[in-house]
Amino acid sequence: MRYVSTRGGGKPAGFSDILLGGLMEDGGLAVPERYPQLRAGQLGQLRKLSYRDLALEILRLYAGDVPFSDLKRIVEQSYTSAIFRSEDITPLRRLEAGVYVLGLSNGPTLAFKDVAMQLLGNLFENALAKNGAQLNIVGATSGDTGSAAEYAMRGKRGIRVFMLSPHEKMSPFQTAQMFSLQDPNIFNIAIRGVFDDCQDIVKSISNDLDFKARYKVGTVNSINWARVVAQVVYYFKGYFAATTSDDQQVSFAVPSGNFGNVCAGHIARSMGLPIKRLIVATNENDVLDEFFRTGIYRVRPSDKVHQTSSPSMDISKASNFERFIYDLIGRDGNEVKRLWQQVESDGVFDLSNTPHFARIADFGFVSGRSTHADRIETIRRVYRERGQIIDTHTADGIKVGLENREESVPLICLETALPVKFGATIEEALGRAPDVPVGLENLEQLPQRFEVLDADVGAVKQFIETNCRN
Ligand SMILES: *Cc1c(COP(=O)(O)O)cnc(C)c1O
Repeated sequence: MRYVSTRGGGKPAGFSDILLGGLMEDGGLAVPERYPQLRAGQLGQLRKLSYRDLALEILRLYAGDVPFSDLKRIVEQSYTSAIFRSEDITPLRRLEAGVYVLGLSNGPTLAFKDVAMQLLGNLFENALAKNGAQLNIVGATSGDTGSAAEYAMRGKRGIRVFMLSPHEKMSPFQTAQMFSLQDPNIFNIAIRGVFDDCQDIVKSISNDLDFKARYKVGTVNSINWARVVAQVVYYFKGYFAATTSDDQQVSFAVPSGNFGNVCAGHIARSMGLPIKRLIVATNENDVLDEFFRTGIYRVRPSDKVHQTSSPSMDISKASNFERFIYDLIGRDGNEVKRLWQQVESDGVFDLSNTPHFARIADFGFVSGRSTHADRIETIRRVYRERGQIIDTHTADGIKVGLENREESVPLICLETALPVKFGATIEEALGRAPDVPVGLENLEQLPQRFEVLDADVGAVKQFIETNCRN
């Protein structure tokens, strides 16, 4: 399997070549030359497999240049019942007749990003060990991504993580999750400022090519291809858990921000998994809902991004969306390049009057939007009627999923976080706190390890330099 850029430039590359990188040379995203197609009868074989074996069968299609024995070991290290608190890794539970919740959030940081990040940590360590190389991951987080990255990279040889977060602005639970890590290769940097300050510092470091090369700086952001492909596995797993025969269809409802999760659903469907609908759920930051309803992709200026009670979906643009548009417009890299140049200059492109937009339905996509009031109402109703507590992002997915559900097609709603991460909103909805998972009762009392720095690139660079020497 070789990878090309969504913008048509550069030479095709192997999985290992794009594993540690971010954007392709021409500024596009890596996509496979074509999606592997399921053979007749193959679903029946895959249906019998454990999560680990299923993951191995799917990942080997995309990571052909990682030796099979390495990939097997990496998958077996990543997807254990000890790490994911369940032998199923992503267990399916019933919400009501024909409606299910796929639990993606039982990993170390209680959000779905662990599923991909745990694999990525082991893939990175393996790749670096091959050539005795080092990697310093520098990132900015307001919560889920940073903690998932730290828990995936802790203790990994050849890797250090420098994670910037806004000082005293994350929830106490999220702060404790990150700052209680004592591993010597994990560095939490609390910046006196807001999330945008953290992101600006990371951008500025990424733009300093000299510094970047000298200190082997890399990232783990949501455009990383390996993260997307790791997520393809649980669409298969969810499909098998909700059906009994291979001619049935299901639909998925996906709480969406950067379009990474639902992009994996699109890939699973493109491989031949019988997915009827991919239901994209957004919060008040409805860039994606606007596109799927109107054909207009209009990014928001960062001061127009709403701070919501499903904060991991608070985005101004959807960084993986380019991968889907590439497929939608018939894999024409020059056209994708033109569209994103337009986004750069005007903040918008419009496909509404093109034959491409008319084909949206062929790709299974529908969408909807959910607000704070919807979230509260959905959390209350699911608790009252089903006795289950769901988190705010999952509530957005369930709300929009039920609105777009077809009676005869089972609906699988993806659970992207556990409610304990967003306790304040659960209290508001239910007048009670969510349960704390076993083993995390005392998380907020644990000693914390972090460095407070000013919102100053120089100070952060200095900190990285000092800690790279040790
Ligand atoms: C990251 C995240 C999302 C959004 O996923 P994308 O892949 O960016 O669309 C939704 N819910 C939670 C809890 C998240 O952490």
